[in-house]
Amino acid sequence: MINVELPDYGERHAFIERALSPTRGTAMQLAEGMTSDGLASLSGGLQLNDLARARAQSLSGSPIGRDWVQAEKAEALGRSAGGSLTVYPPGGGFNDIAGLPQVRRIVEESRDSGLVPRRILFCGPPGVGKTLCVTAVADELGLAATALGNVRSMWVGESERNLGRLINAAEALAPVVLHIDEIDQAIGPRQTGQSADGGTSERLLGRIMTFLGANTEKRITVIATSNRPDLLDPAMFDRFTIVPVLHPTPIEAAHILDIAARREGRQVDRAQAEAAVRKHNGLLTGRVLVDVLDRAITFAAVEGGQLTIEQRHLDDAFDDLQMAVDPLEHERLALLAISLTTFKSYLPWEAAQHFGMKPELPPYLPPLLDGNGRIDQGKLRSRLDALAGHHVAL
Ligand code: ADP
Repeated sequence: MINVELPDYGERHAFIERALSPTRGTAMQLAEGMTSDGLASLSGGLQLNDLARARAQSLSGSPIGRDWVQAEKAEALGRSAGGSLTVYPPGGGFNDIAGLPQVRRIVEESRDSGLVPRRILFCGPPGVGKTLCVTAVADELGLAATALGNVRSMWVGESERNLGRLINAAEALAPVVLHIDEIDQAIGPRQTGQSADGGTSERLLGRIMTFLGANTEKRITVIATSNRPDLLDPAMFDRFTIVPVLHPTPIEAAHILDIAARREGRQVDRAQAEAAVRKHNGLLTGRVLVDVLDRAITFAAVEGGQLTIEQRHLDDAFDDLQMAVDPLEHERLALLAISLTTFKSYLPWEAAQHFGMKPELPPYLPPLLDGNGRIDQGKLRSRLDALAGHHVAL
């Protein structure tokens, strides 16, 4: 359980000030851009002896920056929640991620404004990189990230108490990113009438809603992800800024193939990869692209194990795909995400334009635009209605 004796901001600040100008010994070294206020503020949830360790470590040549705080907090978070919160290891932020200009925009705005986003819901089809966005945002903002998991199914009976405990643990470690994966399943829709589980969902939802309403002061960034926002209680929508994460454009898909190849110690030519993607001409997700790349590696290996993946290997791998994604279900989930998007600036093609990139619309969108190139809400709704009967277990 979380310690009540954790030092507060003032105590941490005083400790850091002393470490920076000690009466004896060598001063703690901060990394560029880090200040004593910044460190005091970011280090919520850490003990003073963690900070003492920071000082010792900085003397051996690694000044204390956001990465240190993030790694320490990830560890502290794991300890305090007794392993029931999953802690994401710090990653490389946007370095190994293709596209997603809308997510880059969120980070840019946060840096420029000094305001950390509080509640984001990434919506979109499965496999397009929503989970990746959560860790990327946390990394870019220098925050530790942790997953709340499926509270209901994991702890039926005890779930309310657990939820309360986990929320307390996260609060003590603020600032922190709390990821609610598949929020539609983790919490579920509000039940009407007698709920099947004796009211647990109802109470959990109430607890989560209170938490979401009350945490503005708590410096917890709640990032939820969902493939199926249609299953969510509509009251949830108001609590979040909804940001769509959609299928990669061909240029982004080529970039994902490139990233996946480098991860395997292979190379692909981006232009060739893009040509292969355009030739394939079907909806793709990051997850499918990683599989395609693996297949292409196999084909190249069969030919003699070369480290460069040629276009023919990619073409063959795409040809070999029996079914990448169910196109109608993916279209439905993507359009649902688009229709729920809170701000137009977070539509991927709008965000691409913001960064001076050539915007490319997803293939399902052009038929739904009006004469001015804007989304025609009426057409969008009728298309969603037409697709509504198309349910496939995901
Ligand atoms: P989701 O949460 O939407 O189901 P994930 O974030 O789990 O999708 O993505 C699945 C995998 O696809 C990732 O682990 C990554 O390998 C790859 N991927 C998806 N989108 C991207 C992207 N934009 N850049 C790089 N890799 C990606």
